[in-house]
Formats: sequence, structure tokens, C-alpha cells
Amino acid sequence: MNAKPYRAPWEYDTKPFKIVENVYYVGNRNVSCHLFDTGEGLLLLDTGYTETAYMLFESIREMGFDPHDIRWIIHSHAHYDHFGATRYLVEKSGAKTYMPKKDMPFMSDPVMNGCAGAGLRYEPPYDCYFDVDVEMCDGDVYTFGNITMRAYDAPGHTPGTMAYFFEMPNGMIVGMHGGVGFNTLTSAYAARHNLGTSWRDAYGNTIKRLREFRTDVVIGNHPSQNQTFAKLEAMTEDHNPFVDPDGWSKFLDWVEEKYRGVLADDPM
Ligand SMILES: [Zn+2]
Repeated sequence: MNAKPYRAPWEYDTKPFKIVENVYYVGNRNVSCHLFDTGEGLLLLDTGYTETAYMLFESIREMGFDPHDIRWIIHSHAHYDHFGATRYLVEKSGAKTYMPKKDMPFMSDPVMNGCAGAGLRYEPPYDCYFDVDVEMCDGDVYTFGNITMRAYDAPGHTPGTMAYFFEMPNGMIVGMHGGVGFNTLTSAYAARHNLGTSWRDAYGNTIKRLREFRTDVVIGNHPSQNQTFAKLEAMTEDHNPFVDPDGWSKFLDWVEEKYRGVLADDPM
């Protein structure tokens, strides 16, 4: 893969697949998108790039669903690679959109949300602009059909990044840390965007807080963050590597190690 996904999206194409009952991977090889069948309509967690929207539509259909049946679109944080296709989906489905409240100021800034870098205009009525219907706050609980979703602040990658825990009808908890990218923690990024060091501290505190939660299935914000494709390859009839009660703490250990590496290599 030589070009950015928003320049050569086809290089990032991949087949969709079922992770566990009612949860499907419909993202590309760079950014995760997850589809939940709630029994009363579809929920989509993150939409990927504007330029990968055609692959997302096809992936949803390939899993046997109709993109027009999406009722809810949840966003992990306000970066363009996670909300880029939302506009297209809203136009087609009329879905209700959800964004962390604390990321709203960040989202309205095309430099911060990444649209400017990708050459897109984020302002009505252009490109990937959409209205946010629900601004989510720490501790919010939502019912989507037969799934209950709990949302918690998980700042660090962006000020408003959230973590989500989906309680499935069989009692299983599917969890996602909505943003662990280390790119926004570097001193160069902070200088470029006039940020202090508060994000770094927030990032560390988030890791500590999220250790309190139970999760049976860790889903990734990007496939590299939970080894999505390695797990898919290791999946057999009797073994599903996505189901792992220790997966959440192992994931947070990995995040913490990388985080400490950034602090050591790039002190501020
Ligand atoms: Zn991001």
C-alpha cells in the first residue's frame, strides 16, 4: 500500500466478515467500521473515509444487509477518517448521527478534523459536512434495539474521544477504545496545533480508567490496533480469537507500552 487511503482507496479494500453474533467488520484495511444488527435496525460505528464509502456500502450488502436500514451512526472521535462517509450514509438512510460532545469544537475545525489535509471542505453544504443529532456525554446509556451501549470519555487522542461498551442480547460485552493513535501525542503535533501537554496526561489517565471495565470482545478503531486480520485468519469452526476475556487488559497493556515509549522518546 503506497498511497493514502483517500488517494487510492482500492488499495485498502478487504472483505467484510462476522466477528460475533450480530457484529460485523465492514471497514477497510486502514480504518475500522463495525455494523451491529440490533433486531430493530442497523447501527454503524464509524464510517471511514469519504473515498472508501463505495466499499463500505458493498461490504454492508455483502453481509446481507441494506445500507438504507442504518438507523444510528456512532462516531468514536471527530477525525475525518472515522466520519468521512457519514454524509453519504445519512443522505441514503436518514440515520441519526452521534458524536462525543467534547469533540464538537474540534470537529468544526477542518484542520483539526483532517478534512483540510485530505482536500475536502467541511462546511455546509459541501463534501462530508453533516449535522450531529446527538452529542454524547460521559456515562450516557443508549438503547438501540436489543443492544445497550454505554459511552465514556476516553480523551488523549482527541479531547473528546470516547470508549463504548455494547451489551449484546446474550450478555456478551463488545468494547472499543475510540482512539489510541499516538500521532497526536508528539511534540511536533502539539506545536503545530498550539496544544499544551494536557492531552498526554489525559491519555495516560484514560488507560488507567478503562482498566476498570469488563470486555469479552475487543474491537479496534483501526484494524492494526486489535490485530483484526490476524484474528480473522486464526478463526476456526470451534475457536473465535475475538472472544477473549483477557483481550481488553492485553490491549490496554499494549497501548500503555506504546504510550510510555512516546513519553520516553519525545519528552515535552
Ligand atoms: Zn484519529
